[in-house]
Amino acid sequence: MDKDSIRVALTRVPHPTLGADVVTAGAVSKIAYCDGYASIRVAGGGLHDDHRRGLMQQVSAAVRLHAQQAMEALADVHVEITEDEPELKSPVKGPSPSAPVQQAKPPNPLPNVRHVIAVGAGKGGVGKSTIAVNLAVGLARRGHAVGLMDGDIYGPSLPTMLGLGAMETIVRGKMIEPFFVHGVKAMTIGKLVDSERPLIWRGPMAHGAFKQLVEQTNWGELDYLVIDLPPGTGDVALTMAQVLRLTGAVVVCTPQRVAQDDAVRAVRMFQQLSIEVLGIVENMSYFVGDDGREYDLFGRGGAQMMAQRLGLPFLGAVPINMALRERSDSGEPVGNFTDGSDRNRPLAESLERLVSNLEGQVALAALRTGQATPTLTIR
Ligand code: ADP
Repeated sequence: MDKDSIRVALTRVPHPTLGADVVTAGAVSKIAYCDGYASIRVAGGGLHDDHRRGLMQQVSAAVRLHAQQAMEALADVHVEITEDEPELKSPVKGPSPSAPVQQAKPPNPLPNVRHVIAVGAGKGGVGKSTIAVNLAVGLARRGHAVGLMDGDIYGPSLPTMLGLGAMETIVRGKMIEPFFVHGVKAMTIGKLVDSERPLIWRGPMAHGAFKQLVEQTNWGELDYLVIDLPPGTGDVALTMAQVLRLTGAVVVCTPQRVAQDDAVRAVRMFQQLSIEVLGIVENMSYFVGDDGREYDLFGRGGAQMMAQRLGLPFLGAVPINMALRERSDSGEPVGNFTDGSDRNRPLAESLERLVSNLEGQVALAALRTGQATPTLTIR
């Protein structure tokens, strides 16, 4: 980590009024870095207090995220917002200088969505997309209006997992209609680009692609929007934190020790972005053999212990199940819940538990942030 790499990291932070990132806007007037201490000075002339506070948080979050990605210890970040004018004084696009000052936070792009939940993982292949799909389908089966967005813009898997292959993309004006499948409104970049072309995005392009998918999909009214994030800790999560108001995040992990280390990094990333972690899911936790016995192939319980260690809720364990994998590949997730066979029962029960624990954690989070009044549900 050095001054130059910090400058690159700061290109992810949008200037609140100039329609460019803070570096391009000429607002970063000093970067110093020594032995884990970073000091950034940003020219904030003309910004009102809410913008200054937001800028300070975002600059600090971008530097911390950069340190995390570079795997370097960061002792402190000092951000100073001065009264100096940035070099680029007039906006690149957007409001004219005489326009009224913008709101403190960018307006909520999804005012008709009650809860936005991100599903993340420290690394690929742990079943993050599988869990995101099944959470969405499970919530919809309980009567909620649910959207599912493929935020994994580098490797979208929803076209396959939801069986969107032959479906036509419908565009009305500037808005794209989500695909209504398995009771869920879904959107993925995988249906908007050539599915076999590698999706290579630089930071600002990834930012734009994610923002467009969120803002230009006609979600309508939703109780839950589940977002399947790319694996690891990176640009898309930072964009998401800037653009959306999240209820919280779910982190998916497999039981092994090595997987936990990655998951802890994902947890820390959400916490640094001020996103509440609603809980941990242990996927591929155990295997049920033909003899009906449960085998702990990867060391069942590892993720649960990690959750305890971090003081986070444990949402549940999902077994390894061949039919689950087959239904992911054929795009038919509902069978995970409806197949009443003995073989499927442990899977169905584990998914139902997961969904109901998530509902509970979302209700608690909403109470903590004053988003909801308590309701009593009698089943
Ligand atoms: P990620 O999103 O973390 O990269 P995926 O959800 O794409 O992971 O899952 C990777 C592969 O593992 C997929 O083929 C999926 O069907 C399979 N898989 C995920 N969870 C399970 C499970 N519990 N049992 C069996 N196969 C699983």
